[in-house]
Amino acid sequence: MDIKSEQIEAIVKEVLANMNGTADKTAKAASVDVPKTSRAAMLTKLEHYDIVEFPIPELGDDDILVKVEACGVCGTDAHEFKRDPFGLIPVVLGHEGTGEIVKMGKNVKKDSAGKPLNIGDKVVTCMIFKDNPDITMFDLNKQNVGGADVYGLIPDDDIHLNGWFADYIVVRGGSTVFNVSNLDLDSRILIEPSAVLIHAVERAKTTGILRFNSRVAVQGCGPIGLLCIAILRTMGIENIVAIDGESKRLEFAREMGATETVNFKDHKGIEALTDAVKNAFGGYLADFAFQCTGSPIAHANIYKFIRSGGGLCELGFFINGGDATINPHFDICSREITIVGSWVYTLRDYATTFDFLKRAKGIGIPLHKLITHRFKLAEINEAHQTNLKMEGLKIAVLP
Ligand SMILES: [Zn+2]
Repeated sequence: MDIKSEQIEAIVKEVLANMNGTADKTAKAASVDVPKTSRAAMLTKLEHYDIVEFPIPELGDDDILVKVEACGVCGTDAHEFKRDPFGLIPVVLGHEGTGEIVKMGKNVKKDSAGKPLNIGDKVVTCMIFKDNPDITMFDLNKQNVGGADVYGLIPDDDIHLNGWFADYIVVRGGSTVFNVSNLDLDSRILIEPSAVLIHAVERAKTTGILRFNSRVAVQGCGPIGLLCIAILRTMGIENIVAIDGESKRLEFAREMGATETVNFKDHKGIEALTDAVKNAFGGYLADFAFQCTGSPIAHANIYKFIRSGGGLCELGFFINGGDATINPHFDICSREITIVGSWVYTLRDYATTFDFLKRAKGIGIPLHKLITHRFKLAEINEAHQTNLKMEGLKIAVLP
């Protein structure tokens, strides 16, 4: 058996963590060295981050100081980087982050799902409910994160350590935080984007059309479409056709669990493309389709791939991507198509996501391959430029 040095390091860390577990809490807290300052990548103007050093503040009784291990670059970050649509500049971005608790206020005992929290635990954050502390993960089934604040997308304040593109983040009381110590780092980097798909699949299930033996088309094989395929696969759906214009992404789609793929560049015109999708399903149209691109033409096309009485989940238009032209008679009414929209996720979806990631690993879906690039914090401008060029899939930034 050959053990790599990083594996040895991980084993040593685990042993040390277990040893720490036997010590009392104050001793543990004292055992973690916390520096006086933390670097953070601050977007100071369009397409430009500065690495800024901020003092690490005194923690309040409900606060948690987390040492960042990694944070994914999201499509939302790309929009903010290029155009500042949210008007946040100057801002510390990064909302797909995960890290280790190094310090906690005395009131912090449990995470948002009721799991104990200790120094050394690995965590992710979700929403911040400072104005509505009554919302919990159990009465939030129908309300998505759209109405809440999220670290990495909040205005700068006097604490500054508000986003995950940094060495440390201060998680304040009233935030949702989850103990995800049982997931490996790559899985934890994929939690936030996976939650988007868990939500979409939950929305799709409300139509009653998505079943074990359904034929499912997934259009768009960026990280969102690929995670969609992986989730469908963990649910036991086996007949999945992936549609994209890049052969490399379609190869990934097969690795995630797609049974057939269609490259739309190989087919001229919507009739030929529809035939190709039909052939991929062995002569049938899809029972259900997930639209995972931000392209209005792709939205208009996807109706043609769905059988009469079938369903569609539109989740590609995370932001305004413009108008799409469809024919309501032919595309929706006369064929009785059931359509659901999906946007972001709820807290409950977050908890489901942790189970999905464990299950995906269990059945051998190589989700870690979705993380195609890793950049150091100091290289964050390069990380975002790479993301804008649409090279690779998920890009991670590490301290
Ligand atoms: Zn995101």
